[in-house]
Amino acid sequence: MQRVVVIGAGIVGLLTALELRRRGHRVVLRSEGIAEGTTFAAAGMLAPAAEIQYGQGPLWDIMREAGDLHRELAARLPGAGYRDASTLVVGRDTADLAALHDLAAVQRSTGAEVRELTGAALRREEGALLRGLPGGVLLTRDHQVDPRLLAAAAHAALESDGVDGMAGPPAEIHLGPITSCEDSGADRIVLAAGLGVPEIDGPHRRLELALRPVRGDVLRLRVPPSLLLPGRTTS
Ligand SMILES: Cc1cc2nc3c(=O)[nH]c(=O)nc-3n(C[C@H](O)[C@H](O)[C@H](O)COP(=O)(O)OP(=O)(O)OC[C@H]3O[C@@H](n4cnc5c(N)ncnc54)[C@H](O)[C@@H]3O)c2cc1C
Repeated sequence: MQRVVVIGAGIVGLLTALELRRRGHRVVLRSEGIAEGTTFAAAGMLAPAAEIQYGQGPLWDIMREAGDLHRELAARLPGAGYRDASTLVVGRDTADLAALHDLAAVQRSTGAEVRELTGAALRREEGALLRGLPGGVLLTRDHQVDPRLLAAAAHAALESDGVDGMAGPPAEIHLGPITSCEDSGADRIVLAAGLGVPEIDGPHRRLELALRPVRGDVLRLRVPPSLLLPGRTTS
């Protein structure tokens, strides 16, 4: 058993702390806040196929395996907001659709399940879509999670000692800013402070971590029941 200090309580720090504790380590989680960083903003796409980028080959297996692990995690963390509905990527025009079809070949080569859809098939999948769209792709293994619910479930599990399959020695959680990880008295330190990492002193400063903020916008839509296909619900 080791004493492990995890710095940062976003989705990465919380889940790492939970898994380390499950393996029997004494975990101390230190963070300025709980799930207040990008974890709060994220859309929750578990999208190893939809988010494939050309030239990132070594990442693809990791992305797919990480996506698959969420099903198992959700079974152990009730209320984690996991949904195994498929992901639909829509082509806005024929050029867009051609690019999606090119990408579909790469997605298939990584083991992803991809169905290319005509405009009519697209509307059969999602009746609320605009008429006249040329088509899209259905990615049956790209799922979703609600990052805020997942973080809250992981936090609650860390604070309790009785969640089935996730139990372990009591974990400590301390809130407040960290400026250095040099003298924390830990056997191991996990730096999971997201974009806060460069502000923290420690041996990692010798590494060239090319961290940079990337802007993102998330639209959260609630579909009126009148636009849903028969038998579908919004939840
Ligand atoms: C708009 C948007 C949409 C996104 N959508 C998706 C998506 O659909 N799917 C997906 O997989 N990813 C998505 N992401 C990316 C995803 O949000 C991040 O990869 C993920 O949240 C990173 O988690 P983290 O735990 O590393 O960092 P954070 O969630 O940023 O957590 C870092 C934690 O460290 C703490 N901290 C920082 N500095 C210090 C310090 N000096 N001392 C103490 N504590 C500190 C903070 O308080 C925070 O709690 C999206 C991101 C954005 C911005």
